Amino acid sequence: MGVVTPATERFGVVESVTTTTSTIPTDAPEGDGTLTWDSTTVVVVEVSSDGVIGTGWTYGSPACASVVEQVLAPLLIGRGPLDVTGCWSAMVAALRNIGRPGIGGMALSAVDCALWDLKARLLDVPLHRLLGCVHDSVPVYGSGGFTTYDDDQLAEQLSGWVTERIPRVKIKIGESWGRAEARDLRRVRHAREVVGPQTELYVDANGGYQVGQAVRVARALDELDVRWFEEPVSSDDPAGLEVVRRSTAADVTAGEYGYDLAYFGRMVGCVDCIQVDVTRCGGITELLRVAALAAASRLQVSGHCAPHQHVAALSAVPNLRHLEWFHDHVRIERMIFEGTLDPDHGCLRPRDDRPGHGLDLRRDVLDGFRAA
Ligand SMILES: [Mg+2]
Repeated sequence: MGVVTPATERFGVVESVTTTTSTIPTDAPEGDGTLTWDSTTVVVVEVSSDGVIGTGWTYGSPACASVVEQVLAPLLIGRGPLDVTGCWSAMVAALRNIGRPGIGGMALSAVDCALWDLKARLLDVPLHRLLGCVHDSVPVYGSGGFTTYDDDQLAEQLSGWVTERIPRVKIKIGESWGRAEARDLRRVRHAREVVGPQTELYVDANGGYQVGQAVRVARALDELDVRWFEEPVSSDDPAGLEVVRRSTAADVTAGEYGYDLAYFGRMVGCVDCIQVDVTRCGGITELLRVAALAAASRLQVSGHCAPHQHVAALSAVPNLRHLEWFHDHVRIERMIFEGTLDPDHGCLRPRDDRPGHGLDLRRDVLDGFRAA
């Protein structure tokens, strides 16, 4: 049990940490340059204190739930729920021999996000107010454009975002580890025709190209006014990212596989915008530190996927660029939560009328997709 302090007397202690793992089929086969999938697993963490529940989640292996239940939960029971960074530090220390990158980092992230939501609810304030709101709204870009889509599916999805007045869209390229370059470029041209000249067009190769090929593709993308070239080569190849950066007018970006602050320290200087995923990097606690690290190098940050887990945190980041409105996760979050947001003129506005992140779990829906 934790130490009894004036705060724990007033706000109680963490009483339970539970998980639910659900696997939700996609609405169509999805794929990018280096992976294909037909379902997505979400691991939801609920942390309770004094009858109040905070919720966080990550999109990862069911093994994340085991790490939460067996390693992290015992550390938190009995601790004061207001001391989120203290909880986070204890969890980070406990992950040393298990490994922070990957499953350990995702488990940490989901619990950290749940703790921040719990704290805001205990204090009865919206989470973005607790964190210190800088931006009343968070710009988003429509993201999907999977390599598995045919031309009609791609056009329908892109047109939907344009109709919603989202002024930025991203599609996947680098199909089959760069072996379908001609189709990649044809799909980018098709995307440009569909969205017109006024919409910013982004691409993501998910590390599918080799360096020389990425440079050639980048030159072709410049002609189509592509503004964002994400992971043209592996994000584990900083020298390669640098070569591509020098060859293109587009911003070269990466960071979605960052699991700790040290990773982002290495990524600074390799990219034009730091991408960060709050469900992987170590939660809101670490995201705010990543943003500060980026700011020290005059870089902006962009949130990767899981839009509703990012909105409050990114609204508190001065050097914010935007947030990914990822088709797969938007669909899942609208299914499993009540209170989700809709973009308005390309922005999400965090809610001021509810405490915490403002979402309520649809327990029946989540349980319907629960792993046996
Ligand atoms: Mg990406």
